[in-house]
Amino acid sequence: MQRGAEETLRESEARYRQLVEGSLGMVCTHDLQGKLLSLNTHGAQTIGRTREDVVGHRLSEFMPEDQRPEFDNYLSQIALSGEVQGLLHLSHVDGSVRVVAFRNKLIQSQACDPYVLGFGIDISEQVRAEDKLRALIRQSNSVLESVGDGIYGIDLDGICTVVNPAASQMLGFKPEELLGRNMHSLIHHTRADGSPYPENECPIKNTLSDLDTVRVSNEIFWRKDGTSFPVEYVARPQIETEHGLRPRIEPRIQSGILFDFEQDINPNIPPVSEDAKHAGKAVGVVVAFTDTTERRALDRMKDEFISTVSHELRTPLTSLRAALGLITGGSLDARPQKIRQMLEIAAGNTDRLVRLVNDIIELERIDSGKAELHGTMCSADDLFRRAAILMQADAASAHIRITFNSQGVNVWADPDRILQVLSNLISNAIKFSPTHTEVHLRARRIDANEAEILVRDQGRGIPEDKLDSIFERFLQVDASDSRTMGGTGLGLSICRAIVTQHRGRIWATSTPGTGSTFHFTLPTLPASNLL
Ligand code: ADP
Repeated sequence: MQRGAEETLRESEARYRQLVEGSLGMVCTHDLQGKLLSLNTHGAQTIGRTREDVVGHRLSEFMPEDQRPEFDNYLSQIALSGEVQGLLHLSHVDGSVRVVAFRNKLIQSQACDPYVLGFGIDISEQVRAEDKLRALIRQSNSVLESVGDGIYGIDLDGICTVVNPAASQMLGFKPEELLGRNMHSLIHHTRADGSPYPENECPIKNTLSDLDTVRVSNEIFWRKDGTSFPVEYVARPQIETEHGLRPRIEPRIQSGILFDFEQDINPNIPPVSEDAKHAGKAVGVVVAFTDTTERRALDRMKDEFISTVSHELRTPLTSLRAALGLITGGSLDARPQKIRQMLEIAAGNTDRLVRLVNDIIELERIDSGKAELHGTMCSADDLFRRAAILMQADAASAHIRITFNSQGVNVWADPDRILQVLSNLISNAIKFSPTHTEVHLRARRIDANEAEILVRDQGRGIPEDKLDSIFERFLQVDASDSRTMGGTGLGLSICRAIVTQHRGRIWATSTPGTGSTFHFTLPTLPASNLL
């Protein structure tokens, strides 16, 4: 009978051992000083050791240095409260740190000294994944915060679940005024032509059922204040597959970084195939949009520029063609004087075409930043003198005198470029002034940082309403000015581009009938970020 009871006890003990040994957790006992009394094989393997390596040693010997003081806290706590749970950091023989989530209990027994029974699970992989996830979320948040594009996400009901600062700023809503609201009825309710935009026709909403990314470039979004702006947007469904939530990512879409962390965290997840994508279902849409107002204005300007240029080129080309046609047609063969006249017209128009094309190229070079400035300190006196010499022949043939007074001003500038501005302004002054008048150049210091250059004539003057527009490309006071005066209509645009490149300003003042003055400013000190 007694043997039977002993056998049962042995069997029960064996079962218990099997249970502990077979456990995928860490099962241990230790005394109140932290010395390990027993540990299952899996527990020892967690840190790359055998049971014999660790049993009999203080658990703290297997902890990273900086964690050891924690262990003493833990010992006093468990002695006091009888039970502690938390995270234990252990050093693996390979140098890595394993994180074990534990729940330990103090066992008080009559038969032996009190000891602690501990159960733990190695959660290092989860901790690593969580750390990575946190880092990626931080990264994606900072991307979301810093991108210039507006980005928002909606759920299946079209309710805003996430919005970045750029989106709320462009839409004029605070983020909290967008979150939790139906985005279609808030910002996308009416089309550009003023007709209502039913939500079931909205491409953003439709991506939820099509599971396809859409790119739309001709719609408008509405701001909080009731105004609208043209947008271009990409709406991308977030698709839930058997592997979990996964937005549909096309490799070329850069903002994939926001959402592609699933692949990063778990490299075992295979990329989603087309079939799998279609097996999944959308759980939301991410919309990235840009305000295209500026781009549209630029496109319009470009179109206008191209159309004006084509007209400007066509006029001299037509007259050139006509002159050459008359000569080659033979009808003037007997009139050499007339042929000579035609050739002069052809040559004049060719010159005009060359000037026009050169000016267009010049303007493009400055606008695109290809024309670098080579800044240096130069005296206004020297600049005026060189400009006067350059323009002397034109001035003399128009019987106009060039005078200057530089007042000892020095400027920080690229002399060649400023000479170009001065010659342009002097050339205009000569063109639009009667004979026997004067073109006067003057410099004056505005303050320690800036000087003003003035080019004053006694010409026909400029009407007040044209004082600004003459700096635009091809804009003249009189539409025939460029033709009759041989200009291209680009001279002042080039001047403005050059002065702006020097961080200066240019403007005109005038008293019609009495004369005009063109003013521009230049820095007087080298600016480290200027030239
Ligand atoms: P253009 O090649 O036609 O001279 P600009 O851009 O240099 O082109 O000048 C634009 C227009 O501004 C001129 O066609 C003329 O109508 C007006 N303008 C410029 N300078 C003067 C001036 N000094 N006096 C009167 N009108 C001027």
